Amino acid sequence: MENGYGLLDQSQAEEPGDEWEEIDVSDTEADQIARKRDREFNEFRKRIKDADQFKVAESVFDEATFAALYRLVQGGIIDAFGGPVSTGKEANVYTARAGKHAQEKLETDDTEIAVKIYRISASDFTDMRDYLVGDPRFEELGDKKRIVLAWTRKEFANLKRARKAGVRVPQPLAVERNVLAMEFIGKGTSRAKRLDEVNVENPQTAYEVVREYIRRLYDAGLVHGDLSEYNLLFHRGQIVVIDVGQAVTIHHPNAEEFLKRDCENIASFFSRQGYSVTGNELVSYIREHADPYP
Ligand code: ATP
Ligand code: MN
Repeated sequence: MENGYGLLDQSQAEEPGDEWEEIDVSDTEADQIARKRDREFNEFRKRIKDADQFKVAESVFDEATFAALYRLVQGGIIDAFGGPVSTGKEANVYTARAGKHAQEKLETDDTEIAVKIYRISASDFTDMRDYLVGDPRFEELGDKKRIVLAWTRKEFANLKRARKAGVRVPQPLAVERNVLAMEFIGKGTSRAKRLDEVNVENPQTAYEVVREYIRRLYDAGLVHGDLSEYNLLFHRGQIVVIDVGQAVTIHHPNAEEFLKRDCENIASFFSRQGYSVTGNELVSYIREHADPYP
C-alpha cells in the first residue's frame, strides 16, 4: 500500500460509471405510490385526530401509534373507529367496526371489535426522540417504550394461550406495536358488564366457572395476576376473562404470590355475593387439581 494505512488510493477507486446514468431521476412509479401513501396516511391521521372519540386521547397517542392504527386499517382488521370503552391506567379501549380480515377471523358474527391502545408516553414521543436518544438521562423513556411494546405482544400471546387452554377470553385478532385488536365482548357497541356491576344470581356456579378458569390457566402454565370481579365480564351467559397483559408463567418468581392474591380477590368477591369461600381453599383446590405442563 502506497499510503501505508490500507486506505484505498483514490486514483484506484472506481469512477462513477454507467450505473449512474441508468438511474432515472424522474418521478418513478414507486415514488408516486409512496407519496400517495404518505398523503393517505396524513389524511387518515388528520381524520382520526379530529374525530370526536379521539379528542381526549389525542395528546397521549404518538405518531407511531397512528401509524400502527393505520396498518390495522390497511390490513383489513379495522374498518372504522367507534367510541371509547374505557380509559384505564395504562391503556385506552375503543370499539371499531371489524374490517374484512377481522371478520374472516372472528368466530362470532359480531361486527364490532375492541382496540386496546397502550399509552407509551403522555406527549408526542417521535418529535422528542431525536433529542432524547443517546442522552443517558432519558434512557427510561426508551425502556418504557420497549416495555410497553413487549407488554402488548405479551397480552396477545397470553390471550392465545388462554384460549387454547379452554378459558373464555376475547379472541385475539392482531397486534401492531402498542395496539391490540380483539373480539369485542358486548352487544353492538356497548360493552358487557363486569362482574362487579351485575347481581350474580347463582354465585356458586359462577364461582366454580372462575375456579375452573384459574385451574385451566394454571394447567397452561399461566397465572393471571390481576384477577378480580373487575377483570371478568358477563356476556351471553358466559364469564369472560380479560386484561391478561400482566399474566405470568408459573415459573415467574412472583407466580405463587399472584395466584394467592387472585384467589383471595375471587373468594372475597363470591363470599360477598353469598357463596362463602376462602382464598386458601381456592389456592388449595388449584394446587390439587391442576397439572401444569413443565
Ligand atoms: P384498568 O386499568 O381499568 O384495569 P386496563 O388498562 O387494564 O384497564 P382492561 O382491563 O383490559 O384494561 O380494559 C379496560 C376496560 O375496557 C374493561 O374493564 C372492560 O370494561 C373494557 N374492555 C376491555 N377489553 C374488552 C373487550 N375485549 N371487549 C369489551 N370490553 C372490553
Ligand atoms: Mn382491567
